[in-house]
Amino acid sequence: MNQFENAMKQLDNASKIINLNSDVHEILKSPERVLTVSIPVKMDNGSTKVFTGFRSQYNNALGPYKGGIRYHWNVSLEEVKALSFWMMVKCATVNIPMGGGKGGIIVNPKELSEGEIERLSRGYIEKIWRDIGSDKDIPAPDVYTTPQIMAWMRDEYEKLVGHSDPGVITGKPIEQGGSEGRGFSTAQGGAYCTRELATKLGLVPSETTVAIQGFGNAGSFMAKILAEMGYKIVAVSDSKGGIKSDDGLDISALTVYKEKTGSVVGFGSTEAISNEEILELAVDILVPAALENVITAENVGNIRAKSIVELANGPTTPEADEILKEKGIIVVPDVLANAGGVTVSYFEWDQNIKGEHWSEVDILEKLEKIIVDAFHEVWETKEKYNIDMRTAAFVKAIERVASKMEI
Ligand code: GLU
Repeated sequence: MNQFENAMKQLDNASKIINLNSDVHEILKSPERVLTVSIPVKMDNGSTKVFTGFRSQYNNALGPYKGGIRYHWNVSLEEVKALSFWMMVKCATVNIPMGGGKGGIIVNPKELSEGEIERLSRGYIEKIWRDIGSDKDIPAPDVYTTPQIMAWMRDEYEKLVGHSDPGVITGKPIEQGGSEGRGFSTAQGGAYCTRELATKLGLVPSETTVAIQGFGNAGSFMAKILAEMGYKIVAVSDSKGGIKSDDGLDISALTVYKEKTGSVVGFGSTEAISNEEILELAVDILVPAALENVITAENVGNIRAKSIVELANGPTTPEADEILKEKGIIVVPDVLANAGGVTVSYFEWDQNIKGEHWSEVDILEKLEKIIVDAFHEVWETKEKYNIDMRTAAFVKAIERVASKMEI
């Protein structure tokens, strides 16, 4: 399945509803610029390996290109293009002054030493530095990239341009100009969306069951925050498999267990389930928090969750979306549900530009307002046009981008 084709179907759906200007529609069908680079890396054993990296700059009508860099063996140009398009929609959905961009390197970082990852990260910046900057394109972490990697990238960039520019990249360690709250902000935004959704559906946290696919940065913090809010997390999974307990999982004990063993599998007296089975549990809220294309035409018939909060980017295909709508399953789309990450990235950039450091309390207050306002705006748009929440988010976002482009 090609993620970019999926993204373009989503664009078409929204365009029809707002009768989008055909010139703007045509322009929005491709990224403004895409870089493909080869990165030679001296490996620890003395050999040289060449990795392929990408950076897609989709659209900067609302502000500098913005979006993470992914290290994954399945990275492809089509995936990076789709992810950069979704970043454009995401920033516009929550109404922050940023455009859409995304980067990626085809690599399995688990097979590389720390030194090799540092050389790869610096090598990537050496190839793209002319096209990024705090007023141009601002990368950030994504799947399997970390604050440490952001610090190496900032350092390499500043060496090459010859001046300080802390806002060139976000998701940095606090000591390097990173923001309070950035580490868990994707999940925090998702938790605000879950709370608002639960209120709309009349769900009480203590009686609401949640299953989370993916226990990485987004999924593990989501489990922690929702458990603290009183929700019952009955199943979680990671790349090695999943676990289930109808009584609810002890998330703090599970986090310690995962740190020790490297996986959630085998924790306490839980039942083992697969990454496919976790998606099909009869829960109130299903949270896909790993990768794209997991809810598809093939398995959508088996989905029994009452609602879905998309913490991953692009977990649901357009075909599956149609059927979920027919089944009456509400989907809080990725471009809203996981926008907490880029929103705090925007705060980080803002602090860097002004030379400030805001408290966690201030960050969370600002984040909550942005996400909750966007949630209600999307909800009202859904009611107004009788459409699903994804199309509603796209309608609001594309309207914003298009009106700027037309002027
Ligand atoms: N990678 C995250 C996302 O997909 C964050 C991007 C950012 O902070 O720029 O939204």
